[in-house]
Amino acid sequence: MGVFPSLADLVLPRTCAGCGVPGRSLCPRCAVLLTVPRLAQPRRFPEGLPPTVAAGAYAGAVRPVVNAFKEHGRAELARPLGVALALAVAAVRTGVPGPARPVVLVPVPGSRAALAARGRDHVRELTVRAVAELRAQGVAAEQRRLLRRRGRVRDSAGLTAVQRRANLAGTFVGEHPDGRLPAGALLVLVDDVVTTGATLCAAAEALAGGAAGGAPPVLAAVVAATPRPLPGTSGRATGSHGYRVRNVPQLHHDRLSGPGRSD
Ligand SMILES: [Zn+2]
Repeated sequence: MGVFPSLADLVLPRTCAGCGVPGRSLCPRCAVLLTVPRLAQPRRFPEGLPPTVAAGAYAGAVRPVVNAFKEHGRAELARPLGVALALAVAAVRTGVPGPARPVVLVPVPGSRAALAARGRDHVRELTVRAVAELRAQGVAAEQRRLLRRRGRVRDSAGLTAVQRRANLAGTFVGEHPDGRLPAGALLVLVDDVVTTGATLCAAAEALAGGAAGGAPPVLAAVVAATPRPLPGTSGRATGSHGYRVRNVPQLHHDRLSGPGRSD
């Protein structure tokens, strides 16, 4: 942080991480792809998936953007991706009836192997950015690390949804929060991408059954979700438990600064 990103900006030629056009690290055309919140709907909807909103589809230019941040050290993407995550959190919150409630963002912890390989916890970085963005917009938000990983898990690449679920069973343990959660808080699991939903299912199960206290509702928000290639499904579809994302299209830049305004 500090001065180094600015120096890098001066020295390194910048191209859009999504489409490669020179200029910004995320061009407006690619940035807008992360301002279209939708309910995540994995092809085989896993039982126990919390209502999950993604800021965009994990497809097209969004995939290289997420991967550039996650795997290739494009740290300057933390801000636009954090803003996208904040947008998803704000959108998933609107689906809960009644007055607006505080949100407690719970990052899904990475595996020890993944954290060691990357040398950083990119989901926590996004969570910090998202909390800052939500607060700047007047949303009561904070981060709590209420989950930890237990034991070893195989790399999930190449596994089917069922195999992933079995691989993840018992992976997460809910932690006692330090201090009380805000009254009426919603717990929002946050992660970078949802594909099969198996990780979020396991995390939500641990969170709900764990020590969070008083079993507050568990929702989830991610930067991007694998699109469902079926006609007639949209971000306004009904998810599990009759949860419904309302007013999502109205949540654009007027409430959050939006990835396109980051640089
Ligand atoms: Zn672009």
